[in-house]
Amino acid sequence: MIAGHLAGPAAASPIPFVDLAGQRARIADRIDAAIHRVLEHGAFIMGPEVGDLETRLAAFCGARHAITCASGTDALLLVLMAKGIGRGDAVFMPTFSFPAPAEAAALLGATPVFVDVVPETFNLDHQSLQAAVESVERQGRLRARAVIPVDLYGHPAAYPAVRRVAEDHGMVVVADAAQSFGARLAGERVGTLADVTVTSFYPAKPLGCYGDGGCVFTQDDELAATIRSLRLHGQGRDRNDFVRIGINGRLDTLQAAILIEKLAIFEDELAARKRIAKRYGERLRGVAKTPAAVADAQPAWGYYTLVLDRRDEVAARLQAQGIPTAVYYPKTLHRQPAYRAFAPDTIVAPVAERLAESVLSLPMHPYLDTATQDRIVGAVIAALSA
Ligand SMILES: *Cc1c(COP(=O)(O)O)cnc(C)c1O
Repeated sequence: MIAGHLAGPAAASPIPFVDLAGQRARIADRIDAAIHRVLEHGAFIMGPEVGDLETRLAAFCGARHAITCASGTDALLLVLMAKGIGRGDAVFMPTFSFPAPAEAAALLGATPVFVDVVPETFNLDHQSLQAAVESVERQGRLRARAVIPVDLYGHPAAYPAVRRVAEDHGMVVVADAAQSFGARLAGERVGTLADVTVTSFYPAKPLGCYGDGGCVFTQDDELAATIRSLRLHGQGRDRNDFVRIGINGRLDTLQAAILIEKLAIFEDELAARKRIAKRYGERLRGVAKTPAAVADAQPAWGYYTLVLDRRDEVAARLQAQGIPTAVYYPKTLHRQPAYRAFAPDTIVAPVAERLAESVLSLPMHPYLDTATQDRIVGAVIAALSA
């Protein structure tokens, strides 16, 4: 990069936003051997590694059941299908989020209802949820059936408060932990904080595979059995019986084999993310609004996200020095063309709107060394004082 050259040694080579090569270098032998074993046994669909991974995932987060599937989006879809959610049902979710929860609800004919977030954790505001549920109930056209809190950037949502609202209105809580797998709230691991939890193994997520993958966690035996059937075309006890309309939602054996190796070092990677987040916080506090973990929470630090005034300008200055940043998400869901039809004019989400204009995520992964991190920090400070 010529501009980097001219700026001297401080602006060296481009930095990756998420560096999967660092992890690969650490466990390449183990992953290659695991892949080779699958190539040799040849059970590419529902091979032994799938069940083995599910046992390990359940043990990791203390859940009774872990049911792997083809993606985080399929995990959401499978849960809503298993709960029989469809036409006439309202599914509440934050408007400041990835579209997968809205997509799953809308594909089943249900109505996504968008709710504002709180500025501290970027997550669902339970008061805004309460108001939205009451409004839906007053109108009487839809039944309030489910709420999908999203643990944005790896920060667990305020589950106790959300659960209280859900219980009062007979709704199921489906935690979207795609960005927060490994996080804890009051000592409890994400995976057991809601009635049912989903996560994603997309490569850049805290625990990622080498393709698409996802998982559902629950303590509920009956729900688990239904989801296991749904991910296999609705298969019954006999493999030739189809007792419900399902999908092809399985995780590949190869991805399961890779995830077993990655899960073995995941705890250590979570500790590294925490260390890196702490260092960002110490160096950027007072310079920019840094993310604060609320009391009792141990985030998974899927992303490290600042709130800035001149966000786009800062991002451009960093980009010019080979420092990538990302904006999750520049537009609230209720303003997206696909979901506008679900957003009544009365919807107000001032916190989400403000965040959409001002969030900026910095490079974050367990293999970010301190020299690179300090280069990023230096560039952020320079950009903010420019
Ligand atoms: C990534 C993500 C998903 C979807 O996961 P996929 O595995 O990509 O389908 C859902 N919700 C959130 C919050 C995500 O970040």
